Amino acid sequence: MWHYEKSGCFSVKSAYHLQQNLKTTAAEERSGGSSSRESGNWNWIWRTFAPPKVKIFLWNCCSKAVPVGDRLRQRKLIMEASCPRCGYEFETIYHCLFKCPYSRQVWALSGMAYDKYNSDLEDVEQWFKLVNTKMDLKEFGYFAITCWWLWFSRNKWVWEKTEIRPPLVCSYARDFHFRFYSSNIRPPKTLVRQPILKWSPPPNGLLKINMDAAFSRGGNVIGIGLIARNWIGDCIAWETHTLHLPLSPESAEAIAALKAVVFGVSLGWRSFSIEGDCLSVIQGILNSSPSMGILGPIFEDIRDIAKDLDFFQALHVTREFNFVAHGLAKLASNGFAFTSVLPSVIATIVASEHS
Ligand SMILES: [Zn+2]
Repeated sequence: MWHYEKSGCFSVKSAYHLQQNLKTTAAEERSGGSSSRESGNWNWIWRTFAPPKVKIFLWNCCSKAVPVGDRLRQRKLIMEASCPRCGYEFETIYHCLFKCPYSRQVWALSGMAYDKYNSDLEDVEQWFKLVNTKMDLKEFGYFAITCWWLWFSRNKWVWEKTEIRPPLVCSYARDFHFRFYSSNIRPPKTLVRQPILKWSPPPNGLLKINMDAAFSRGGNVIGIGLIARNWIGDCIAWETHTLHLPLSPESAEAIAALKAVVFGVSLGWRSFSIEGDCLSVIQGILNSSPSMGILGPIFEDIRDIAKDLDFFQALHVTREFNFVAHGLAKLASNGFAFTSVLPSVIATIVASEHS
């Protein structure tokens, strides 16, 4: 039965009339016509986390452009304006979406605390706004989608006499919301974490000696720091040297490397790597051809000692990975006297680098 013709028979004319009337009403009200409410701020609608058709539906509801019974009766398109489902009340959009027993069943099944947001306003826009302030973005999106499905289901009933049972409306809405939400949600912006630059332990069963050289504040004292750790990060042994020699930074680093190799061998180890932050020194050690330059003899000494070991590696790392050795070298350059217990400031760093 065509709900919007007195005779109850569908006619193209009445359908066209209906459409034109609704357009006119909505346009009048949006442009501040005589029957208009105060011009609304619709931002909350456009911010709703829901597909465009749902937002447009909300907007149409607020603009009174949804063809429910009372609107049509006002436009004299129909005589009968009671709710086509329950027949208890005039069919306002507020009734259709909220007060109708059918809708209440849907809300009850939706899992949303809709009844907390019950209002006696009888005004759909006020109701939407109230709910919007009580829900977060995600939940309000679900709410809006449920409203859209209630309207869809109402139209199915009115135009096709097809009933969609409340649990099904609920499950359509939930599914629709889930798919929309999962395909549109962007992971929250998080601070891009800087990679943690810290020492890495040697492979299982091996030891690693980190080495560094540092100058005293005046520049005339050189400190050398050596620390040997196992694959778990435990400090196995450590050593500092203080040199009162006029050396270049690179020479000081080369001597630190030599002392590191001697340190490993003197402790009886046959497999270990040394690691430092001076690239030219590591390259000098790795270079198999006879080394030229003032540091050549030091590199050759290192290679001579290393060739008798079962396993040896010289590794370059940036300073951030060589923090403990640097700390020890700095202490040594400032006249720190060797103690059997690792200085607490260094022990703290070792603990933080423990794997
Ligand atoms: Zn009803």
